[in-house]
Amino acid sequence: MHYISTRGGMRAARFTEVLLSGLAPDGGLVVPVTLPALSRDRLETWRSLDYVALAAEVIGLFATDVPESDLQNMTAAAYGPQRFPAPVVPVRDCSTVAAGLHLVGLSEGPTMAFKDLAMQFLGQAVPYVLGKQGQVLNILGATSGDTGSAAEHAFRGQDAVSVFMLSPADRMSPVQRAQMYSLHDPNIYNVAVEGVFDDCQNLVKALSNDPAFKAQYSLGAVNSINIGRIVAQAVYYVWAWLRVTDRTEERRPSDLQVDVCVPSGNFGNIYAGHLVRSMGLPVRRLIVATNENNVLEEFFSTGIYTPRSAEATLATSSPSMDISKASNLERFLWSLLGPGRFSHAWKELEDSGSLDLSDQVERMREELGFVAMSSSHAERLETIRLMSSHGVIVDPHTADGITTALRLMEPGFPTLVLETARPEKFLDTVEEALGCPQPVPDSVSKLLALPQRKTTIPNDEKPLRAIIAENAVTASSPILR
Ligand SMILES: *Cc1c(COP(=O)(O)O)cnc(C)c1O
Repeated sequence: MHYISTRGGMRAARFTEVLLSGLAPDGGLVVPVTLPALSRDRLETWRSLDYVALAAEVIGLFATDVPESDLQNMTAAAYGPQRFPAPVVPVRDCSTVAAGLHLVGLSEGPTMAFKDLAMQFLGQAVPYVLGKQGQVLNILGATSGDTGSAAEHAFRGQDAVSVFMLSPADRMSPVQRAQMYSLHDPNIYNVAVEGVFDDCQNLVKALSNDPAFKAQYSLGAVNSINIGRIVAQAVYYVWAWLRVTDRTEERRPSDLQVDVCVPSGNFGNIYAGHLVRSMGLPVRRLIVATNENNVLEEFFSTGIYTPRSAEATLATSSPSMDISKASNLERFLWSLLGPGRFSHAWKELEDSGSLDLSDQVERMREELGFVAMSSSHAERLETIRLMSSHGVIVDPHTADGITTALRLMEPGFPTLVLETARPEKFLDTVEEALGCPQPVPDSVSKLLALPQRKTTIPNDEKPLRAIIAENAVTASSPILR
């Protein structure tokens, strides 16, 4: 399989050639040129595979330049018992809540959110590619919580990679802080910035826009537009479909159609669903769930896409979805419009700050299966109470998905809601909903009690440059094998 840029300015390249670069050289995102077909027969041969083996098969469709045995080693390390309890992604039947409702558990990994599933694969694939090329990478990132901890847990202990993660001092939840600051691996550097998340992000941008510094210290990113994250996410759509249709006794073609509902922010998770649906996985509808920051709901229902500024983005009780510019939507628009019309549309968006694709609304709904809806804080609390009355505690992001699914689901079609975080990670909102303190699991109390380590700096480039200059892994570092 080959990849090109949405903006048209990159020669076709293979998976291992595009894995390390966030953006394409022309500023676009890399997309597969053509997609292989996922036939029913092939899907059936995968029914007996465990998650590790299935991941190697599905990722292998996208990473055709990586030998099968190497991919198997990577998925075994990424999704093995040290990182995830079996079966990695549990699928739970919640038919007592609503007939056909299922929860797909994506947050059983080390940081209790779905980003572990993609990041753990990168934590194997990136060092693999670096090793082949005799290179090193210093990952520089900013986090408001989930992404940073997932990256640190994925790359801890890797020889050829160091992680410098900026976080806003004293602004993350106690669990998020503990997940990051309790890591003592020599290749993980937690830098707490006296400021807010935007300040952290601006520091990262400032250093990334300094080509000399960037090259000298091999700086890179593992952000949500990395193609490796997308292909690792494709796996659990196939996995969940196989598990839900396992339970279907008669397998007529009409029994195999499912709807999938995805709590969305940057459009990375659901874009992976769009890819496998385009390849032939029998998904009828992809339901986009948003919170009060509903640019995506607006786009799929009106065809008008108007990204909003950081100031216009509300702070909600599902903070990991507080996004008003969905970076991965560029990939979807490219596949929707084709390269020619895409480049006109993208220019319109950049020139006017808005894009009118109202002529595509029906096609997006009928042909591509996209529907969208948003939930409010009060509705999410109500859903947490409803699920709790059936013995299932969910976090506010997952509650957003369930709220949306309950409104849009139709009889006869199993509806799979992707659970994107564990409730323990967002206990405040769960307690607000249920009106009483929730028991803190042992694993969480233990985590909170671990000693923490971080370096606090003022909101200034200079100390950050010094930390990187002193600690960056280099190609001549003795630790590099
Ligand atoms: C990142 C995240 C999301 C949003 O996923 P996208 O891929 O950005 O659409 C939803 N829920 C949680 C808990 C997350 O961490």
